[in-house]
Amino acid sequence: MLEEKCAYCGDMTDMPFECNYCKDPFCSEHRLPEDHRCVKLSQLRAKRFGEKRKIIRDGGTGKKNKFRKMFGRFG
Ligand SMILES: [Zn+2]
Ligand SMILES: [Zn+2]
Repeated sequence: MLEEKCAYCGDMTDMPFECNYCKDPFCSEHRLPEDHRCVKLSQLRAKRFGEKRKIIRDGGTGKKNKFRKMFGRFG
């Protein structure tokens, strides 16, 4: 039987879960990136955050419309 140590808590498990991101073996409790403080998690979050920022930047065009409305009041 292939037993492996959970890279987070050190428990021996005969059913190790391999993290999709850091490729380390983990027990069922720590298989999720959030549960073993995955070293790749910050990179993943940064990537997601970057995507979110991009969307906000694209939505920034709505500001122009607001300004136009303001000026429209005086015009
Ligand atoms: Zn564990
Ligand atoms: Zn991981």
